[in-house]
Amino acid sequence: MTQRREFLARLAAAAVAAGFPTHGLTDDAGPSRTTGAGGSTAARALPSTGLSGRVVVVGGGMAGASVAKFLRLWGGTGIKVTLVEKEPRYTSNILSNLVLTDTVAMTSLLFEYTALRNSYGIEVVQGTALSADPVARKLTIGTPGGSRVLDYDRLVIAPGIDFDYPPGLETDAARAAIVHAWQAGPQTLTLRSQIRAMPAGGVFVMTIPATPYRCPPGPYERACVVADWLKRNRRGAKVIVLDANPAITAERVSFERAFSVTHAGVIQYVPNAPVDFVDVGAKTVHTPMGAFRGDAVNVIPANVGPALLRDLGIANAARGFAAVDVLDYQSTAAAGIHVIGDSSATTQPKAGHIGNQEGKVCADALLRAFGGGQPDPSPVTNSSCYSPITMTTASWLTAVFAYDPSTKTMKVVPGASAEAEGASTGHFEDMRIWFRTLMRDTYA
Ligand SMILES: Cc1cc2nc3c(=O)[nH]c(=O)nc-3n(C[C@H](O)[C@H](O)[C@H](O)COP(=O)(O)OP(=O)(O)OC[C@H]3O[C@@H](n4cnc5c(N)ncnc54)[C@H](O)[C@@H]3O)c2cc1C
Repeated sequence: MTQRREFLARLAAAAVAAGFPTHGLTDDAGPSRTTGAGGSTAARALPSTGLSGRVVVVGGGMAGASVAKFLRLWGGTGIKVTLVEKEPRYTSNILSNLVLTDTVAMTSLLFEYTALRNSYGIEVVQGTALSADPVARKLTIGTPGGSRVLDYDRLVIAPGIDFDYPPGLETDAARAAIVHAWQAGPQTLTLRSQIRAMPAGGVFVMTIPATPYRCPPGPYERACVVADWLKRNRRGAKVIVLDANPAITAERVSFERAFSVTHAGVIQYVPNAPVDFVDVGAKTVHTPMGAFRGDAVNVIPANVGPALLRDLGIANAARGFAAVDVLDYQSTAAAGIHVIGDSSATTQPKAGHIGNQEGKVCADALLRAFGGGQPDPSPVTNSSCYSPITMTTASWLTAVFAYDPSTKTMKVVPGASAEAEGASTGHFEDMRIWFRTLMRDTYA
């Protein structure tokens, strides 16, 4: 309990340091975990700041929804915000590993855009961003009713990630048989069914891509909760983790303990095992460390920047992500286009909590720009991850990042970052509170 209070205090302190209002960062009940958030229809009284500007945001995920909401909340009625999202509602990746074990219902991970639309006056358009003219500042989108052109003063791009599939997973049929479930949705339910179909003594093979990928602890967390479910439901079953990286990439102490103590004899961890080829028919993953056959196979392909970044000419960092100035998240390749969340290449992790923080820093910078000013020269962001280790216990990791003018990057603040000493049921409960708070801060 004390740890949780300290953690939430650190979270709020980081927000204050960045100049953020802290009203969204409270330890309250929030919306029920079985209903998600974002369904509120009460209109908010927005401030009249005298600022004016038109912002189009692409992607209503953790980063895009945050920047849209805080542009209106802080910028007020003169800031016209249009949010373009291809899906009718958002499905949270966070906690989606717990759908695999029936600990969390898929419906509790659905978030509506109703509050952004009704409470904050954001124009939410269901459509797909196709192309942009950065000189004329126009974005072309495809909608169910045909194409549409949106004028903007600033364009914010937050479409998340795409995947670079390994040999063997070239076709739609292969990708339907061996899923990644690294974008929560139908694939999460497919993987859940495949785990359920495993026999006693069966083998679950999963792969982890080379960094950078979204949610560094996420794959290890998946290995743990699947192992825990198998122990309870499929006697003698095993989990084989094929990691393209040379070692566990996040929360190393926690996961080493989880693999070697909590799930000893159930999880086999194989580092330096990038995927060479997936034999879908034989349910076998070939790596330099050997071939591994599973009754259920889960391949998480390399994470890459979405094609939209290439189409807009802003995929100028490694793996097709977008290089940005982290003071305002403006693309280093195109003026007036800002890239936040997993699509940007920064020193911060690709994580939903960081996406929310980047959305706020970007919103603040855009509002300063509309007022003729410069971005905050010393932004601070906070990243948090809770990792379930079993179906009832979790560990956590938090880091604070501050702008370093000498490298022009966000650097971890020593002493302000911490990792749980061990997994506990208390941390598992804290995880639910953290999730509700974060999602409420983003969608409600
Ligand atoms: C299993 C798992 C567990 C995780 N756990 C955690 C955790 O504990 N903590 C944490 O902080 N993070 C966690 N993450 C990571 C987190 O989910 C992502 O980092 C976060 O969702 C990134 O936010 P984003 O807005 O960049 O992208 P997304 O949330 O993926 O949103 C992108 C949105 O853009 C839309 N879109 C894409 N292209 C277009 C287009 N052309 N036009 C219109 N719309 C478009 C998509 O439909 C989507 O809604 C986890 C991820 C996974 C897979």
